[in-house]
Amino acid sequence: MWPSNGFLLGVLLCIPRRQWTRYLALGYVVDLCVNFALDHFQVGHLNPVSFYIAACNMLEVFVAAVLLYKTISPNPDLTRRKQLIHLLLYGVILAPAPAIASFLASFALTGVLSIPELHTFQYWFTADALGIAIVTPLYLSYHQRVHFPDRSWSEIAALFTVLCLTSLIVFWQTQFPLLYIVMPSLLVLGMRLRLAGSALGLLLVSIIGGFLTTHNHGPVALSVNSSISTRCLQLQLFIAVAMLVLYIIEVLKAESSRLQFNLQTSETRFRLLAEVSHDIIVLTDLTGRRRYVSPAAREVLGWDPEELLGGNYKQIVHPDDIAALEQLLMQCRTGHPSNILPYRCRKKDGSYLWVEANLRLYRDAVTNDPVGFVNVVRDIASRKAAEDKLNQAYHLVENLASVDGLTGIANRRRLDETVKLEWRRAGRDHTLLSLLVIDVDFFKPYNDLYGHLQGDTCLRQIADTARTIVNRPGDLLARYGGEEFVAVLPNTTSEAAQTIAEQIRVAVELRCLPHADNPHRCITVSIGCATQSPAPGTSFDALFAAADQALYKAKSAGRNRIEVASRGTTISVNASMP
Ligand code: GH3
Ligand code: MG
Ligand code: MG
Repeated sequence: MWPSNGFLLGVLLCIPRRQWTRYLALGYVVDLCVNFALDHFQVGHLNPVSFYIAACNMLEVFVAAVLLYKTISPNPDLTRRKQLIHLLLYGVILAPAPAIASFLASFALTGVLSIPELHTFQYWFTADALGIAIVTPLYLSYHQRVHFPDRSWSEIAALFTVLCLTSLIVFWQTQFPLLYIVMPSLLVLGMRLRLAGSALGLLLVSIIGGFLTTHNHGPVALSVNSSISTRCLQLQLFIAVAMLVLYIIEVLKAESSRLQFNLQTSETRFRLLAEVSHDIIVLTDLTGRRRYVSPAAREVLGWDPEELLGGNYKQIVHPDDIAALEQLLMQCRTGHPSNILPYRCRKKDGSYLWVEANLRLYRDAVTNDPVGFVNVVRDIASRKAAEDKLNQAYHLVENLASVDGLTGIANRRRLDETVKLEWRRAGRDHTLLSLLVIDVDFFKPYNDLYGHLQGDTCLRQIADTARTIVNRPGDLLARYGGEEFVAVLPNTTSEAAQTIAEQIRVAVELRCLPHADNPHRCITVSIGCATQSPAPGTSFDALFAAADQALYKAKSAGRNRIEVASRGTTISVNASMP
């Protein structure tokens, strides 16, 4: 194995490209020195071929670095499938070939060397390839400081000692083919010390095995009639296969732990979201049985989440809201887009709390079949209270807007609305609508005589009196304006209307509110009555005009009386008392 190329490749993959020239030059010098040293040691003199060998080694490293830089730099992680495949493909298989080929070709062409035999090429190729396959991952692991994660030094030392001892035993003896015995130690090393451990272990096995094999020891020496280069090739093949097995295991292990890590991260993230939320997050099956309840249940409802697990909505939803919730569940199942419902939920102390359900159907990630509901339950008690307050305020304002400030009976606005409504209803139902227009007699002199304040009091007293008579549900007594009042009497015949009018007139008179300028010496009222069954396309104005005309008639006829309008005319039904 030729390790220096793998080392230099590792260095180049971890630095910016502009620094490559410097490192390649340095690598060339070191390589040359090593080659000279080896030549000196082996053949006793310096061999000029070393210049070419060093140049070819640099070419090999350069080609590998160019091909790998984009994939591996700046985040080398050979436990990633893509990075490892690229390293094996480009760095181990492709890069050594052109360098060695060019070296051999240059010598073949210049005739310095005869065309070398194929096994020389193989030997050289495998040595370079193994060098890159083992030393580059080792360098990258150390550079990334991910070597031997979470392992004690004693364990690391023990594992390497076992491997070295096993390798020494296996490669020292030449009697049995025990190469396979190295594998378990290598596998344990890979499992415990990850990629850096595998690479370092392989390096140690290569050194021990290589040294002893070249000295005719070890299982490969058992091969019959084999040359030293064939034995080395066998050892190289063993290392290459062991390396592949270890790297494949490492990649699969890393992928599985990455997957597990991602799952754990997303589980933690979603659990955190569910647990810090002030809303209660509930997961149920399709029958509504609870499978998960977030801790907010404790804060909002007083229940521990565990107490709610396994139960269903019927136990804690207000009986009046169960039907609506069941309908919502049904809608949700059929894919209805809006699934929000306010309902009352029982707290642990027995009281009910207004909450809002926000329901979604959730499906199985694989089969896409519906498997349950996710319900985000929000406390809306304060919102509900604010809404109630707002409603009360609205009704109050609405009431104020439709009540006469002086007399407390309906005002003109309410009268207009009611009249329109009743007119339409009477037209639709073919019923009669009666109207009374009530006017206080001699009220201007009353004001002049007793003052406006007393006049106001008097108006209140008249309204109170009339109110006791116009009290049937659906009837309306309103102040039309000034000292005039109107009674709207739906579904009332002319005769019945006259009776009511007469009752009002008598009641006011019998109240004996003193009025010196009235011939009766007390407050009296005149009333015009009109009754119609609305014909299609007609308006209420005709009815009002008829009643007004009847009132005018009553005034003209001496006051303190009622007059009834009848199809274009008015009928006097009651003469006033003298
Ligand atoms: P008649 O019998 O013909 O109805 O005579 P009258 O004096 O009542 O005449 P008229 O209906 O025209 O008089 C309306 C008077 O009612 C005028 C005004 O002084 C008085 N009036 C109107 N609105 C009020 C009110 O809110 N308070 C008081 N105190 N008086 C009012
Ligand atoms: Mg008037
Ligand atoms: Mg009047």
